[in-house]
Amino acid sequence: METLTEIKKRVFLFGDKKAEGNSKMKNLLGGKGANLAEMSAIGIPVPPGFTITTEVCTEYNTLGKDIVIDQLKEDVQSAIKAIEKTMGSKFGDAENPLLISVRSGARVSMPGMMDTVLNLGLNDESVLGLVKKTDNERFAWDSYRRFIQMYGGVVLGMKPHTKEDIDPFEEIMEHLKDKRKIELDTEFTIQDLQDLVYDFKDAVKKRTGHDFPTDPWDQLWGAVMAVFDSWNGDRAIYYRKMHNYPSDWGTAVNVQAMVYGNMGTNSGTGVCFTRDAATGENVFNGEYLINAQGEDVVAGVRTPQQITKLGSERWAKLAKVEEADRIEKYPSLEELMPSMYKELNGYQQKLESHYSDMQDMEFTIQDGKLWILQTRTGKRTGAAMVKIAMDFLKEGIIDEKEALLRIEPNKLDELLHPVFDTNALKKAHVLAQGLPASPGAATGQIVFFADEAKKFKNTILTRIETSPEDLEGMNIAKGILTARGGMTSHAAVVARGMGKCCVSGAGALKIDYKNRLLRVNGKEFHEGDWISLNGSTGNIIEGKVATMEPELSGEFGEIMELTDKYRTMDVRTNADTPKDARIARNFGAKGIGLTRTEHMFFEVDRIKAMREMILADTVKGRKHALEELLPMQRSDFEGIFEAMQGLPVTVRLLDPPLHEFVPHQLATQKELAEDMHISLAAVKNKVAELEEFNPMLGHRGCRLGNTYPEITEMQTRAIIEAALNLKEKGILAFPEIMVPLVGTTNEFIEQKKVITATADTVFKERNDSIDYSVGTMIEIPRAALMADKIAEHADFFSFGTNDLTQMTMGYSRDDAGKFLNVYLEKGILTQDPFEVLDQEGVGQLVEMGTQRGRSTKPNLKVGICGEHGGEPSSVEFCHKTGMNYVSCSPFRVPIARLAAAQAAIKAKA
Ligand code: PEP
Ligand code: MG
Repeated sequence: METLTEIKKRVFLFGDKKAEGNSKMKNLLGGKGANLAEMSAIGIPVPPGFTITTEVCTEYNTLGKDIVIDQLKEDVQSAIKAIEKTMGSKFGDAENPLLISVRSGARVSMPGMMDTVLNLGLNDESVLGLVKKTDNERFAWDSYRRFIQMYGGVVLGMKPHTKEDIDPFEEIMEHLKDKRKIELDTEFTIQDLQDLVYDFKDAVKKRTGHDFPTDPWDQLWGAVMAVFDSWNGDRAIYYRKMHNYPSDWGTAVNVQAMVYGNMGTNSGTGVCFTRDAATGENVFNGEYLINAQGEDVVAGVRTPQQITKLGSERWAKLAKVEEADRIEKYPSLEELMPSMYKELNGYQQKLESHYSDMQDMEFTIQDGKLWILQTRTGKRTGAAMVKIAMDFLKEGIIDEKEALLRIEPNKLDELLHPVFDTNALKKAHVLAQGLPASPGAATGQIVFFADEAKKFKNTILTRIETSPEDLEGMNIAKGILTARGGMTSHAAVVARGMGKCCVSGAGALKIDYKNRLLRVNGKEFHEGDWISLNGSTGNIIEGKVATMEPELSGEFGEIMELTDKYRTMDVRTNADTPKDARIARNFGAKGIGLTRTEHMFFEVDRIKAMREMILADTVKGRKHALEELLPMQRSDFEGIFEAMQGLPVTVRLLDPPLHEFVPHQLATQKELAEDMHISLAAVKNKVAELEEFNPMLGHRGCRLGNTYPEITEMQTRAIIEAALNLKEKGILAFPEIMVPLVGTTNEFIEQKKVITATADTVFKERNDSIDYSVGTMIEIPRAALMADKIAEHADFFSFGTNDLTQMTMGYSRDDAGKFLNVYLEKGILTQDPFEVLDQEGVGQLVEMGTQRGRSTKPNLKVGICGEHGGEPSSVEFCHKTGMNYVSCSPFRVPIARLAAAQAAIKAKA
């Protein structure tokens, strides 16, 4: 009696415009198998074949090879018969051989992780049949030697096992090249290839003790089992672990007829796209070659021809090819093989509307018969992504929600910053790679000091790391490059805020400030030498690379409008200047979620007063210096409130340790001593006194305001007075005063007392008032734990996930770059936690803080202002947590708007 296991279907046929499977069966047939079945079922001519299911892989692992072959035998034999019928050839035949490929195919794509065997079915007889069919003796023998090599490696275990082992087949080839005094594989003669086949088989016999299998059936079973084995190979196991794929998924095996585009002038091969992948334009396009194999199209040896006449004419114009020459030497497929073109055009339309997305297809014409080898969703630029989504919406193919989901938020970045000219980039030499800290393209001359950023017209500020003192120079430079620091280092955060290209933490850079010299991978660059940075990839490129301004097309605006229809969370911005506030507002920000006030103190006239305040030994002295700062702060806030009029602005009180503001260079220390009429020693003593072993855990945040309440007082006064001044002009400001780095409830209560007392005093003085609120950042783990108590006093919470990540993970924001790269490479971490919120760990504190806060104050306004507020997966997390808003740097506002809309759509689905 048959058990259930024995009657289950293990082999699924496809081909001849029919199929037993479909695209929904990815778990059983693997991604590749399911797609081949789908294409065949909708009438696309794919080379016929069959898929052995993923379940068989699991059976193989438990029951072993013999039982599995027994269970498969009949089905596979009849499947091969079906392929033979469709192809009109015979497996192992000496005259007209059917050759097949055997490939893995798990339910998700695992590129290059498992094994493949091509040209299976070749032996000493069938190779002669292939010679006849292709009329290309060289090709047939080359395929045969490649087959033995591939089969030997994959199935017969003849791959080198260690780095030191030599590949036995490579060794034979090298030996023959030496003997023949040639260098390239392409220089082998037909006789050489025949000799290689003989020597390869000999090596197999010597190494394995068995003859190379000549019976195609033996070859086939060997290959199928080897693909199953490769599911448990080191590469696949590593990949599975990295992506958390369970090992019991197994891989399917796809066996498919080989087709050849190199069977003469009636054959060819090509790749094509249903729309333009660079611009999104709705034009069918692609390239092909007559009498060629797939790799010839991309190898660049022959000039590929265009598929459509229109494409060919456009190409000829760019390549400066005369029309007569074009028609003679480079005709389009449309002109050369009109019926093939017509058929292909029909399939591309069918595939695009079937998958309702732009497709990237591969095809082969074998002796006048068109085969579609593959179709997949086509990769595209950011601009094409937006245009295609909007066009599909307008063409009625997808709805608004789907159009929004089709846009990859991070790819919008390409539309927001200058980009390198793609042609110039092709010729560029990449020196090293750092972290893609802030996107964009920058080309300039190297300067090593921020105060020299104006030395040349376009400069790249190249530093070991940057500090608040470098702010002005960073603003002037075209790009910022640092050897140290991660994605939330000073350089990275500030650059993103400015929308300035930045590559940070490039460990390969050796910077010698004294000699104004940059050493990188054996090359030396002096001040004034040109380099270029790609802030989207982290590439550091030698010399000048041409850039171009991005075009914000109409579709981009349309997509952004749609996001507002669907998102439920607001998007604010982190902005410290009216200029940034205006940029962000243009990008659709609904207020400011974080104004860091410290940056305001670095301009020349302010830093002096700030330093005087820090150096003062008495409250009176401090107040005196603060009085000088007050009008400046007030006008800063007026500018920002005005730029954001009608919308809320969260202003954070002073946060960084005071030592960041004092001078560390002797010359500046001397200057300060003179200005303040005190001794150099006194300045030096104060600088030494402020030095901390662990400044990130030191005298900063509300600890400053609690030890020097007069700072909080001055800042509050500046905020309230600014709002009142604007009110007089009829401009509405909604300040939200935010206390940083709160860990205990009392820290907040004390600061709130100072704030409300100061506001009340100002209201009395002015005999007028405005609405304002007082809240806190939640950026210390203890604050998240105590959120219910803190919420009794706070009007709002804003999660400062930069510090929260630092303190929860115990990774220094400024130094983590040293080990994070290794952690990421080894898979200890899958993402940089300063870039992508660690939802599993840090996220618990965010959820807990929100829930506990709202347990005492149900309407508590909650947002995020750490760098994660502009990172799409973190934005989705914030939506799920129930936040009211996310806040991010101005250039990320459109990305966050889209991510917020996507999160809302996904949550409802
Ligand atoms: C934070 O810690 O997340 C934050 C926004 O503040 P800063 O980066 O200025 O410390
Ligand atoms: Mg912080």
